[in-house]
Amino acid sequence: MKVFISVDIEGITGVVHGDMMTSDAREYDRGRRLMTGDANAAVEGAIRAGALHVLVADGHGPMRNLLVEELHEAAHVVVGTGDARDHCQLEGADSATFDAALFVGYHAMAKTAKAIHPHTIAGIAVHELRLNGRPHGETGLNAAILASLGIPTVLVTGDETTCAEARSFLGETIQTVAVKQARGRNAAICRPPAATRPEITAAAERALGSIGDVPRYEPGDQPGAPFRIEVDFLTMQQCERAVRTAGIERVGPVTIAVAPAAPWEQYRLLWAGLRSALYEPASWLA
Ligand SMILES: [Zn+2]
Repeated sequence: MKVFISVDIEGITGVVHGDMMTSDAREYDRGRRLMTGDANAAVEGAIRAGALHVLVADGHGPMRNLLVEELHEAAHVVVGTGDARDHCQLEGADSATFDAALFVGYHAMAKTAKAIHPHTIAGIAVHELRLNGRPHGETGLNAAILASLGIPTVLVTGDETTCAEARSFLGETIQTVAVKQARGRNAAICRPPAATRPEITAAAERALGSIGDVPRYEPGDQPGAPFRIEVDFLTMQQCERAVRTAGIERVGPVTIAVAPAAPWEQYRLLWAGLRSALYEPASWLA
């Protein structure tokens, strides 16, 4: 069995504030250590379930957060800047024939209440992302893209609200571990790693022991068919920059649509368009 693990930071045990999420912030080293700990707990569960290959993809901000010197010895890790990746948080998912995916440390979609740092891919640019007309966050979008590669997503960890979002998209049979209960954007009732990590390990082992119980998330008409992916940006400037990318079409003042293609290619186009939107020109060019 081969397992792909996508890791973000907002839904990690004990992380509630930007001071643990951004590389120039005071508590960032603690945040990345906690992130590595939750990731390792999932790797351990995968190994106990019989995984022979585990690829962990660092999928937050600078995408160089996980501490490789503290990473579980059985794992490989995808690490490196978003600008050097075609497939953002899912980089490497096509590098082997993975049997299942686990999402660790995930967060709720943009505009969700009672969630730690809810956003969709890029909080400073994306107001709403829709897949076939329904607003999606990273959990639903990434699960749909992975499903198009034949990979079911069988575990999601994060705050309680994120776990509920996962069940509403991926079905009630998905395993979830709520490591905290958000009281607001920057506050949560947390449990310590000594409590959550064994739970993550057990849930990963359970999920991978019954992969067939969780249907792949296939929201389209037929598996592998192109999705209708649209993004509403926060500003017109972001929209105008995004549409300079091939495969990105403007369909409204602040709205783009991704050209129809295989979903894996659509995810690449989406990420290219978002990178263009986020591009900050020198002040004399802007
Ligand atoms: Zn993140």
